[in-house]
Amino acid sequence: MKNKPIIIICSILAIGIVGMTMLTYVNFVRGSLWEKSVYDILESTTAEQKSFKLYVEKDVENLTSILKGVSFEDEEVKISILQKLELEGINYVYVNLKEKTFINNSDKEQLPDEEVEKLKAFQSDKGIIKPYFNRNTGVKMVAVYVKSGDELIIKETRADYIAEQFSLSFYNDLGFSYIVDDTGNVLIRANHKNANRTMQNLFDIIDLEGNDKKTVKSFEDALLNHQKGYALFNYHDDANVFCYVPVGDIDGWYIVSIIQNDVIMTQANHIIIFTIILSLIIIGAIGCIVFIYRHDNRKHKNEIMYLAYYDTLTNLYNYQKFKEEGNKKIKDNSKNWAVIYIDIAGFKIINDLNGYKYGDKILKNLAGILSDSIPYQGITCHMTADKFLLMCDYKEKQDLVDLCAKIYQKFYLDLKSDGIEKERVMKFGICCLEDMIEIKNIDRLIDGSHLALTEVNMNRKDYYCFYNYTMRERIMEEAAIESKMEKALENKEFTLYLQPKYNVQGSHILGAEALVRWIDKSGNMVMPGDFIPIFEKNGFILKLDEYVFESVCEHLAGRIKKQLPVVSVSINVSRLHFYQADFLERYLNIKNKYRIPDYLLELEITENILLEDMKKVQEAIVELQSNGFICSIDDFGSGYSSLNALKNLSFDVIKLDKLFLDNTNNTERSEEIIKSIIDMAKQINIKTVAEGIETNEQLEFLKKTDCDMIQGYIFSRPLPIHEFEKLLN
Ligand code: C2E
Ligand code: CA
Ligand code: CA
Repeated sequence: MKNKPIIIICSILAIGIVGMTMLTYVNFVRGSLWEKSVYDILESTTAEQKSFKLYVEKDVENLTSILKGVSFEDEEVKISILQKLELEGINYVYVNLKEKTFINNSDKEQLPDEEVEKLKAFQSDKGIIKPYFNRNTGVKMVAVYVKSGDELIIKETRADYIAEQFSLSFYNDLGFSYIVDDTGNVLIRANHKNANRTMQNLFDIIDLEGNDKKTVKSFEDALLNHQKGYALFNYHDDANVFCYVPVGDIDGWYIVSIIQNDVIMTQANHIIIFTIILSLIIIGAIGCIVFIYRHDNRKHKNEIMYLAYYDTLTNLYNYQKFKEEGNKKIKDNSKNWAVIYIDIAGFKIINDLNGYKYGDKILKNLAGILSDSIPYQGITCHMTADKFLLMCDYKEKQDLVDLCAKIYQKFYLDLKSDGIEKERVMKFGICCLEDMIEIKNIDRLIDGSHLALTEVNMNRKDYYCFYNYTMRERIMEEAAIESKMEKALENKEFTLYLQPKYNVQGSHILGAEALVRWIDKSGNMVMPGDFIPIFEKNGFILKLDEYVFESVCEHLAGRIKKQLPVVSVSINVSRLHFYQADFLERYLNIKNKYRIPDYLLELEITENILLEDMKKVQEAIVELQSNGFICSIDDFGSGYSSLNALKNLSFDVIKLDKLFLDNTNNTERSEEIIKSIIDMAKQINIKTVAEGIETNEQLEFLKKTDCDMIQGYIFSRPLPIHEFEKLLN
């Protein structure tokens, strides 16, 4: 867009230059073609001049021999010879100046004195006599004579006959000639339609038309000086070219050819028109080529732009373009802006179960829903995999909630129509610019929306969450925890607590679960809920779990050594371990190092891991069991695991999730479900532990079932090791 004025200026300049060049060219062509035409006319005039000269010379030659022939003959013979020579329009006359007589084709007559004087005055003994009117016929005649002493022979020819003989026209009869004397008097005129019949002198017409005095003068001078040349004069309202050539031997006679300037320019004009048309065609062709090139170029550019700015799968903006556009929008202070981070719940499973093609279809569907739902000013992008971003303006925050609900509902129905029914299909993290205290830019907005999204994950009641400043504070706290964790492990700030597992009657301790506590130097206790999720994110959990595992082994080994009673202890194992190639090896090494007998160590694996890779987990469980570990599934019932899935896995223990038993809303139904789980577990030889049992009601219910163990505050909280040991002893 910026180049537009430049393009316009360049185009005008180019048109100007081409125009000027054409004009110059046209002028050049006209000039040179005109010159060539004038030269041609001069040539043809010269040719006329030559043939006229030859005609006269021939006459002179003939007359000379005639004169010789008739000189000594008597009168009768002279008359008969002259009679014989006579032709249509041509007479021969014999003159004797001494006798002052003349003889023609019929008789001898007396020549008047003035005529005798005139003939005597001829300087040359041969030549041409200016046209005159025949005394008898009154016809204009031109005569050629030869003189020898007092005798002359004259050949009289009708002027119009000569004009006819020399045609005196040229250029396809478009031009004509006059024979004039050196003062411009017309001697012989062409029988041409354009030739003036009355004009006596050339200068009469030239002067009449108001021609340039200087040009007229130089024409006059040229004639007087026997020069050959051309001049341009107005005549009959048109410009005419006058080409003049002296006849030569005949003193002061000229042939002047006249032709309309327009006529000789016609050919030039044809060439010029042809040239202009050709030029226009060439310019047009070049224009077409440039247009096609630019069009192609633009298309290519558009394609590149598309690749650079759009996501090819969904046709939405890509992340980069979204940020670019988002930053522009933020600058508009007149509106409230929000970024919504959208995440499809369990997309990986959908992908795994239905194939990537279906996964792509879902992403495209959602992209379509987003495009249809965003308000006028909004933009949206496909970020990665199942993550989308949306930015829009709003009046009240409720507008955003409504927008999310609308998107959610459409997407839910889409999945449902495909036979996929899920409790929650997607999550929204919403970050409003007005809630940002810190620097306000698109990156911060996206960060904020992502923070809000992780918050949805934590409290499972809703599918959206708004960003607020405390989230940022939590991030700060997380950062603080991360900065302290390594040192805390070195300083043994992580302390092992054990929570006993009882039989349903509460009379015997059958086992314990190792739960970690972070007690810093000043004695503050931090609960695992505050740091485990962070360690799971940053991987530090691998170190901590191993530390807890070793602490348990140390505790058991100590008691075994003292021959004190022991119970099996379960240790929580983060799912990250299953992606460590040396996990089993490391744990086994520790177990062996402390010589812990088989089946005293139990590994609790959280139910969520089953979502990720069932096959891998099953393989790991078998390995662990064959190395003397008890394997339990933790938090069973909190997520998606079904009883069916359990059948395919060889867990030794099921730990029923606390929430599962907490469910007081639908007691009867949930009790039934719990009962059937316990029954089924029993059938396939799996032990059951009920977690988080706090009330007598819960306990009474469990007593009616075959539940093997109770772990809950009702019997004991997690205890420091020495307290647990006291209890066990
Ligand atoms: P979990 O594995 O489900 O552990 C049981 C949690 O329930 C413990 O919380 C325990 O204190 C609590 N609890 C037991 N009985 C009751 C009860 O009657 N009522 C209530 N309200 N709570 C009860 P804790 O110790 O805060 O641990 C929380 C979670 O942190 C654990 O859940 C576990 O997932 C994780 N965790 C704790 N220690 C470790 C560890 O060493 N490694 C790993 N990876 N995770 C650990
Ligand atoms: Ca546990
Ligand atoms: Ca648990």
